[in-house]
Amino acid sequence: MVKAVVGANWGDEGKGKITDMLAREADIIIRFQGGANAGHTIVNDYGKFALHTLPSGVFYGHTTSIIGNGVALNIPILVGEIRSIVDRGVPMPKILVSDRAQVVMPYHVLFDQYEEERLGGKSFGSTKSGIAPFYSDKFAKIGFQVCELFDEEGLRGKLESVCATKNVLLEHLYHKPLLDVDELYQTMMEYKEMIAPYVCDTASFLDEALKEGKNILLEGQLGTLKDPDHGIYPMVTSSSTLAGYGAVGAGIPPYEIRQVVTVCKAYSSAVGAGAFVSEIFGEEADELRRRGGDGGEYGATTGRPRRMGWFDCVASRYGCRLQGTTDVAFTVLDVLGYLDEIPVCVGYEVDGEVTEQFPVTWKLEKAKPVLTRLPGWKCDIRGIRKYEELPENCRKYVEFVEQHIGYPITMISNGPGRDDIIYRESPLKK
Ligand code: GDP
Repeated sequence: MVKAVVGANWGDEGKGKITDMLAREADIIIRFQGGANAGHTIVNDYGKFALHTLPSGVFYGHTTSIIGNGVALNIPILVGEIRSIVDRGVPMPKILVSDRAQVVMPYHVLFDQYEEERLGGKSFGSTKSGIAPFYSDKFAKIGFQVCELFDEEGLRGKLESVCATKNVLLEHLYHKPLLDVDELYQTMMEYKEMIAPYVCDTASFLDEALKEGKNILLEGQLGTLKDPDHGIYPMVTSSSTLAGYGAVGAGIPPYEIRQVVTVCKAYSSAVGAGAFVSEIFGEEADELRRRGGDGGEYGATTGRPRRMGWFDCVASRYGCRLQGTTDVAFTVLDVLGYLDEIPVCVGYEVDGEVTEQFPVTWKLEKAKPVLTRLPGWKCDIRGIRKYEELPENCRKYVEFVEQHIGYPITMISNGPGRDDIIYRESPLKK
């Protein structure tokens, strides 16, 4: 059976922690989309880790970690990440990389930087990891699958043809140094050596695993609002962030995904540009940012301060719906313990009309938050393990959010550690 762990919002909801926790009972954990542009922060017995490419299950001895075909694979980053965890005492994880995953080429990273430079003030706020140029090439059918590294003759010819078109842009649009085919070919041969020990027909491997009744976790990156179709286009990422895409990006039948755990944070944060209706600013935002997450809300990949806001019921209901949520994991609730009153966004006002429906992007840009305020609980809730033991106002906050989003909150995370979790019976759970 397959479970997916995905985000309802803009990313950074705490998916890494929830995956790491659920991985205890999993045999296989798969990354199915995205690349090294976002990170997961995981705190466990080995220490604190920021992972960008490795699935969150790599800290367990009993799991196999898979980089699925849907991932943008940056080979030196993956190999460096494996080395960095092993150097810190984590046993060598079992890792398989799909032979159909495509390779982030050195020029994808360069084109990402050059394009952001060219756009100047109108840039997307990209992490410059090459993700948008990578997926553009994948769908323009000029990308390189991992398996192609092993077809040396074919590889050389294709590199020549791709470099010819890239060099036109480099020379005339970006005015930057041109690509050299020989040099690139050498780099690909180095990539081949690095990745060879991990390459596998992962879809066949998963087919067997499903027949044997193994427990499989799909680990999403970012969240619904960054999905290229259903998110705040064009301020989105370049691959689908939805659980449904897990079937494609891992190569498994869609009907095998039985449980969709959608992670929602108890307040909002976002990185990069784009509409963010419940955003807050100034001292109010600084305080939440300082207290947020585990040591502040700063990007795991870039260290950039995240944009902060109150919990957004409109965006989260929409985010949960598009994921096909069966369970909501409500995270980072402990952080809100300092507030006397907690504002929550329950509607959007667009052109003088209030709506609870998440609008298309150009209308979203005009939306103003309709806020309501709930009483705070003014204490530290870390360490509590039973729902009934949470302060009454804290339970009221959870129940208010659950009612407004309309999906069952069955897990509440009240700290960054694996055991900081409260399981809850939800009245919405059928
Ligand atoms: P992801 O990309 O969705 O995995 O999220 P991030 O790793 O960017 O953000 C989650 C951050 O919050 C990490 O630093 C986690 O250690 C931390 N975190 C996760 N759950 C909780 C929680 O319940 N409480 C607190 N205080 N921190 C948490």
